[in-house]
Amino acid sequence: LTATELAAVRADFPLLGRTVRGGRPLVYLDSAATSQKPNVVLEAEVDFYEQRNAAVHRGAHQLAEEATEAFEDARAAVAAFVGADEGEIVWTPGATAALNLVAYAFSNATAGRGGAAAERFRLAPGDEIVVTEAEHHANLVPWQELCARTGAVLRWFGVDDDGRIDLSDVDRVVTDRTRVVAFGHVSNVTGALAPVAELVAAARRVGALTVLDACQSVPHLPVDLPALGVDFAAFSAHKMLGPTGVGALYGRRELLEAMPPVTTGGSMVEVVTMAETTYAPPPQRFEAGTQMVAQAVGMGVAAQWLGELGMDRVAQHERELATELVRVGEIPGVRIVGPADTRDRLAVVSFVVDGVHAHDVGQVLDDRGIAVRVGHHCAQPLHRRFGVAATARASASVYTTAEEIAQFREALAGVRAFFGVD
Ligand code: PMP
Repeated sequence: LTATELAAVRADFPLLGRTVRGGRPLVYLDSAATSQKPNVVLEAEVDFYEQRNAAVHRGAHQLAEEATEAFEDARAAVAAFVGADEGEIVWTPGATAALNLVAYAFSNATAGRGGAAAERFRLAPGDEIVVTEAEHHANLVPWQELCARTGAVLRWFGVDDDGRIDLSDVDRVVTDRTRVVAFGHVSNVTGALAPVAELVAAARRVGALTVLDACQSVPHLPVDLPALGVDFAAFSAHKMLGPTGVGALYGRRELLEAMPPVTTGGSMVEVVTMAETTYAPPPQRFEAGTQMVAQAVGMGVAAQWLGELGMDRVAQHERELATELVRVGEIPGVRIVGPADTRDRLAVVSFVVDGVHAHDVGQVLDDRGIAVRVGHHCAQPLHRRFGVAATARASASVYTTAEEIAQFREALAGVRAFFGVD
């Protein structure tokens, strides 16, 4: 992005114009937690409520028709953004809900639901679910719980000292008992890219299904889910310039068709008698109850906005920012976790400052108007692997500037002196 384009992008985000901590310009480096929202997204939600608000897929009136159209157009926009068909995108409240939906579908199938079609989702005691040590808790705990419910066994790939998934014993981790291989596309701690092709190939060799946590990739890279060859993927609107409260589960059509429902109730049924119920085809089968229509519309607009800017250009801009971010590792006493080579990582950098607790680092930066995240970033096993309880994390988005990162580095360079640490 040229300086003029970047300025125009920033001008579209009202929140970026505010000041914090007694008049300091905000330097927002916490986009991996949640992104800010452009005017078009905010306006789309307001416009929906002002002009089209109605329950979708029911009423016989014009508003219901318009609301349904907006809701389904948004689905089409999100689908197109990740290379999928509309029927392959299920609205969920977010990535966490999407990952839980898949995990619970496996246990419902295992409990005998879903008929013969659901066979691929049935687990036997001793079947194996494979994850990685780098996972966000949202792509770990639901699988632990699934194992506890079904007698399946959780296995995992470790990571190397750089936070890269260690594939050296792939054939011992992925076995003929493996039924699911679930992994994050991009780590929310190290920004490291997962070896998707290798993991998909390993899963396919043994007939296992793949589940991709695409939360940290879809907002930052061109992502074509069918081309990646994954079976399922989850991502959240709020990290990709969209509203909170909505996200998506991508599933290959034939798998969504075979998958039993999890949340049941209105809107996901075909015929209901007092004795039994038949279910709607996907995606409606997985969308029980009144949906988050305004938020879905906002997510569709966010996807379109990013698509029009061009994800190649977004990725290029953020690659430059990643190069600037990893330079915090040059500051004496600052150690970043994850790969040093920016070809292997996106603009998410977690680090420790020798002798200063991450929370204190966060506070000193906050006093200067710089927002970073501190803690374990919902990835305790990865922090344990690195031998640290907490890190501070700076992360960028399309609206982040190199100047902001320079300010952040400068502020960080003063942190040890502030605490009197050599
Ligand atoms: N996976 C990763 C890699 C994430 O970064 C996050 C959000 N921190 C999630 C899953 C969960 O997303 P959500 O909180 O939007 O459900």
